[in-house]
Amino acid sequence: MPEGDTLFNTALALRPALVGQPLTAVSVRARGMYRLRTGDVVQSVEAVGKFLEIIVERGLALRTHLHMTGIWHLYDHDERWRRPRHLARAVLETDHHVAVCFAAPTVEIGPATDDRLAHLGPDLCHADVDIDTVLTRVATAAPTTQIAEVLLDQRLAAGIGNVYKNEVLWACEVNPFRALADIDEPTRRHLYETAATQLQANLGRWKRQTHPQGLAVYDRAGQGCRRCLTRIRTVEHGDIGRRTWWCPDCQR
Ligand SMILES: [Zn+2]
Repeated sequence: MPEGDTLFNTALALRPALVGQPLTAVSVRARGMYRLRTGDVVQSVEAVGKFLEIIVERGLALRTHLHMTGIWHLYDHDERWRRPRHLARAVLETDHHVAVCFAAPTVEIGPATDDRLAHLGPDLCHADVDIDTVLTRVATAAPTTQIAEVLLDQRLAAGIGNVYKNEVLWACEVNPFRALADIDEPTRRHLYETAATQLQANLGRWKRQTHPQGLAVYDRAGQGCRRCLTRIRTVEHGDIGRRTWWCPDCQR
């Protein structure tokens, strides 16, 4: 699952190449009855929750959910692709560029207004994100849910993937396995405000950083905590392929 900032930066890179441009060739392997076609003019490129959404003036949206594997590349016409052609799920060509989405597990085309996206929580990548609304939504989650899982729930707040989940919990010195019910309102607010600050600080940045030395706990199992030097621990947690890293001393 990509973090909100990955999608935001992808949108930032694709936007100047696509917006306002008519598509000169289209090849999309998508489910459903809708199709983009040559001549469609790109109206917007946005990161919406976990989706990269490319809307054309005909009112259709191409939505790609990149999960762990998907990625968008932007090429010149004569440039060699850096991934095999058979992995391309969507190829959008304009006069000057070729945008290619590789290996995204979810590629859909549908009407530009989709109710499903309305279920997403406030986007933590936006500078004016309303944390009060986030906290109201968080209060509706099951009280026994572990806080690490709460942070990943995009219906409560959009943008936190597995990297920020771990980094935010470390920054706030909260144990990832605590139940939501055990976490008071000021701590909840601190967690989401920290997430918003970290995500927004990484917009437009090439290398993700949440700590002066890079990342604090993510993928640092066995290394010393950047606060107390205790060895960082890790465990498989929640959904398949998700791991949690934490400092057993700072995050009791
Ligand atoms: Zn520590």
